[in-house]
Amino acid sequence: MEKKDKLRESLFKNNKNGWENLALEGKQEIFEFSDEYIKFLNEVKTEREAVKYFKTMLLEHGFKNIDEIASLEKGDKVFYVNREKNIYAIIIGADNIELGLNIVGAHIDSPRLDLKPNPLYQDGQFAYLKTHYYGGIKKYQWTTIPLEIHGVIVKANGEKININIGSADNDPIFTITDLLPHLAMDQMEKKLKDGINGEDLNVLVGSIPYDDKAEAVKLNILNILNEKYGITEIDFNSSELEIVPSFKAKSLGFDKSMVAAYGQDDRVCAFSSMKAILDANKPSRTSVCILADKEEIGSVGNTGMYSQSFDTFISEVLNKLGVNRPNLLQKVFNNSRMLSADVDGALDPIYSNVSEKNNASLLGHGLELNKYTGSRGKSGASDANAEYVAFIRNIFEKENIKYQISELGKVDVGGGGTIAYILANKGIDVIDCGVPVLSMHAPYEVTSKYDIYTAYRGYKAFLNHK
Ligand code: MN
Ligand code: MN
Repeated sequence: MEKKDKLRESLFKNNKNGWENLALEGKQEIFEFSDEYIKFLNEVKTEREAVKYFKTMLLEHGFKNIDEIASLEKGDKVFYVNREKNIYAIIIGADNIELGLNIVGAHIDSPRLDLKPNPLYQDGQFAYLKTHYYGGIKKYQWTTIPLEIHGVIVKANGEKININIGSADNDPIFTITDLLPHLAMDQMEKKLKDGINGEDLNVLVGSIPYDDKAEAVKLNILNILNEKYGITEIDFNSSELEIVPSFKAKSLGFDKSMVAAYGQDDRVCAFSSMKAILDANKPSRTSVCILADKEEIGSVGNTGMYSQSFDTFISEVLNKLGVNRPNLLQKVFNNSRMLSADVDGALDPIYSNVSEKNNASLLGHGLELNKYTGSRGKSGASDANAEYVAFIRNIFEKENIKYQISELGKVDVGGGGTIAYILANKGIDVIDCGVPVLSMHAPYEVTSKYDIYTAYRGYKAFLNHK
């Protein structure tokens, strides 16, 4: 090697594509891991379904429900399910828990359309369901695509009915109609954000009248639902029904290098975090996996990261270890470290003008670390301390885990946040660390298989770290 090339190699940061120089063996592992991930995505479309799926995985790996255990000791593995929408898993390490926790935390809710409390109505000869969108969506993306209904209806007597219509091959699907271009002159003149009104995101669900009287199509739908689920119209009042895209998760590209699917924000990090804790090798520090709900609407409510339920869970662990005393929880948090496992908007060459290329995350370049999030003047940012960034770098560099440090978009363009700052407020060292995504928050999002597997490896190395 020439002296000048050597200098280049030693001084410049290596920012090569991860697929380059990948051994065949490595590629196989990546593709196998992604196959399992794709299978998971095809079974899980909501936070409740994610909790159910992960709970089964945890039980299969020897984790127990903390509510069913009187006391804990080193090496024990337990989990806690919060209202079917949020789950925490923990492995008690060999070290004193006072030395702190290694936490990986992701969220399992995704942007979608929720049904309104009084959703069913008839207009003309059609029955519709009214929706209220959840999280940041581009409304026009949700018309003229196949949709499914997932969720629960709880009757006044407490009986709970699980709904999942659209995912089985012989299920019907639903859709939201849009105007034909021939008559869309006025609509096409509007700003993109005004092209579709929130109140027009009404899901088409039927067209056969029950009889020749008023609201006969609506009546027919209610009759079908009553026969199948035993519900009446008022039962919608106590339901949580989510309208989600009916697209199958698939490998993307001739080279099958990417995954296209709904809900990868943030189930890509949730899945790789969960796999990481399941495969953690008897970690010496206590390892935790957080899977939170409601991140997309500000982490509020009793299943969101702002709720006290996480503190309560860790307090309960301290109680059951028989070590709890006043302020111990705060001390544990102060000594803890966390990877906030959430996705980042990747540089899209078609829309590269919103990204600053030296500081944008790239697909296929490994785990993305955001030192800070926030928008404009770092407003609302969770900013990891340089010492902690160095600490995480060191773990990844030693284990040969490819990472990139980035921020979301150009300074003045916008920004975003995750659950990171909520844990940082407890005194925990936190950095955002996840998978770059194209078309984030769209009904069909794109990730790189290389990054997915690298995330898993990165989270596992972190949890295993002393
Ligand atoms: Mn997210
Ligand atoms: Mn999001």
